Amino acid sequence: MTATAHEITYRLDQKRNIKGAFPGPKSQALNERRSAVVAAGVSSGVPVYVEDADGGIIRDVDGNSFIDLGSGIAVTSVGASDPAVVAAVQDAAAHFTHTCFMVTPYEGYVAVAEQLNRLTPGDHEKRTVLFNSGAEAVENAVKVARLATGRDAVVAFDHAYHGRTNLTMALTAKAMPYKSGPAGGFGPFAPEVYRMPMSYPFREENPEITGAEAAKRAITMIEKQIGSEQVAAIIIEPIQGEGGFIVPAVGFLPALSAWAKEKGIVFIADEVQSGFCRTGEWFAVNHEGVVPDIITMAKGIAGGLPLSAITGRAELLDAVHPGGLGGTYGGNPVACAAALAAIGTMEQHDLNARARHIEEIALGRLRELAADPSAGAVIGDVRGRGAMLAIELVQAGSKEPNAELTKSVAAACLQEGVIILTCGTYGNVIRLLPPLVISDELLLDGLDVLAAAIKANS
Ligand SMILES: *Cc1c(COP(=O)(O)O)cnc(C)c1O
Repeated sequence: MTATAHEITYRLDQKRNIKGAFPGPKSQALNERRSAVVAAGVSSGVPVYVEDADGGIIRDVDGNSFIDLGSGIAVTSVGASDPAVVAAVQDAAAHFTHTCFMVTPYEGYVAVAEQLNRLTPGDHEKRTVLFNSGAEAVENAVKVARLATGRDAVVAFDHAYHGRTNLTMALTAKAMPYKSGPAGGFGPFAPEVYRMPMSYPFREENPEITGAEAAKRAITMIEKQIGSEQVAAIIIEPIQGEGGFIVPAVGFLPALSAWAKEKGIVFIADEVQSGFCRTGEWFAVNHEGVVPDIITMAKGIAGGLPLSAITGRAELLDAVHPGGLGGTYGGNPVACAAALAAIGTMEQHDLNARARHIEEIALGRLRELAADPSAGAVIGDVRGRGAMLAIELVQAGSKEPNAELTKSVAAACLQEGVIILTCGTYGNVIRLLPPLVISDELLLDGLDVLAAAIKANS
């Protein structure tokens, strides 16, 4: 075994503990208050209200302790109350909470840019801009690519998720719930967005298709339907997140990025979910040595504080005129302090090694489960990298997506005190995104609960 969590100290007891039926009385009362004031469009997957969280544990207001296998959607990789992040936030906030970097700048913003330029792939000259959310980072990556190339078209992929703002809804593939619902649609959407076929090994018609061939399929469509000289940018998640933790076939990303380079197209890697040690590397593109022109980051970047970033080639980012990029809160000083501390924790505890260790433990368990006659028939695929792992559930013995089973498995896990997220275009993927600081014991306990839930419900 490589790294273990022994050097990580916890504030809360790292044990699952469900005291009885939940949501308990305090969560129920909060839920009633909520329903009267919070819009119905914002929904929560887990009906309990949080009081405390640390390491791999989330404790609710009624005293139940849950194992966290979701990290608030890949955000709290260093834990939800990493002591280094907490101290940095307290110290920064005690000095100043905001000045606006566009009015009176401060060192934290510059220091985060230095770190991102150092950690992102490639040894070319880089520049960084900070924002607040993943969607805002994606919007700005596209802004920069369009201005720098003088072109309009943007290519995204099947199963893509890039956010909920107008442009990022257009880039996102899935209609319900992100772009439309029973009450209507959120459009009209931003123009000049084109969608191409992804490499999705489990669902390819021809299971033999290589990554390079899948890239060729997309490239031919781009050339025939748009014209490469019209394309400003290709944006892709190196491992797709909401779309189903889809890992493209080896060779797909390198072939796309090489073609983009040849055609003067900006290759944007959306690493909002896959970045910052999540896959056992600083960024998921590192697994295949791909160097994006621009990389978008958020989620895991700042230990839970809202911060996002784009880092890219200096000649692209510096093509934009002064004043062309920014925002009131972008690179907030407290969020910058949190990011510097979170990156420090990732390096100090070698969370890339922890993510690979989690992969070793969890992928092994999931593959055993897929081979187990009492569960295997409904497990279509087991995939992922590092601590970004998934199982795709199907109707027994087929490839038909099984969204119902996926829902009941997640609900059964929750009943036992394990928070598990689902995803996928077809709603049939169980995804594991544990905090990277979770203990082996807690992770194994959570995986046992998941295995039992699949066996009991299939
Ligand atoms: C979550 C996510 C986004 C959007 O981030 P927000 O902070 O929710 O706006 C964009 N891209 C990917 C790949 C994501 O996973």
